[in-house]
Amino acid sequence: MKQRLQKVLSRAGITSRRKAEKLILAGQVKVDGKVIKELGTKVDPETQFIEVDGCPLEIPPLVYLMLYKPRNYLTTLSDPLGRPKVTDLLKNLSTRVFPVGRLDFDAEGLLLLTNDGEFANLLIHPRYKVPKTYLVKIKGIPTHNVLKKFKEGIKLEDGKTLPAQVRVIRTLKNNTWLELTIWEGRYRQVKRMCAAIGHPVFRLKRIRIGPLSLGHLRPGEYRFLTPKEINSLK
Ligand code: URA
Repeated sequence: MKQRLQKVLSRAGITSRRKAEKLILAGQVKVDGKVIKELGTKVDPETQFIEVDGCPLEIPPLVYLMLYKPRNYLTTLSDPLGRPKVTDLLKNLSTRVFPVGRLDFDAEGLLLLTNDGEFANLLIHPRYKVPKTYLVKIKGIPTHNVLKKFKEGIKLEDGKTLPAQVRVIRTLKNNTWLELTIWEGRYRQVKRMCAAIGHPVFRLKRIRIGPLSLGHLRPGEYRFLTPKEINSLK
């Protein structure tokens, strides 16, 4: 895929985008043996040979995964307490990836991982409003009026939430399973929304992010996204 030369240089980790622009303007960057001084030049790092000051540029391939995060795993990359991390589940990857957004330690389900910072930003930035769907087991049995509050938006200490979609999946004796879709990704949002209406969360499983579903993955399993799936999120 063709990308702007300065973006490719910064992705290779050699410098920031701003400094990459300076390198290009100074004539220090060659593509297929030719000095390129145009900032907008688009190049394909997979097929073209890029050099900076005569050294070939090494660009890690972009990697996109979906993982079924098991309960009691952390989405952070390090933990002073040594608890299990989602990245411990990944085997034989040629490059380091990081989780896109987060899931609580006791939550489970669909987690995306990538080394593509821009892609991650597209998914987690509030501006893009990517829907995320959760199965939520809550305490008690909510009334119709309480469920309506999800659709109206719920007041939290960091402001009212956007309207959410909710439907009851199953009512048990003292609990209810809901399917809840939200268009934001605030800190512990689902748990805080449910607590705010008097129904604390016991279980939380994310089953969808935008067009992607967990499918048949089992806890701890992961797979690479297909090019079509990657494009569907961009
Ligand atoms: N909302 C929560 O409360 N926790 C999560 O892990 C994800 C969404």
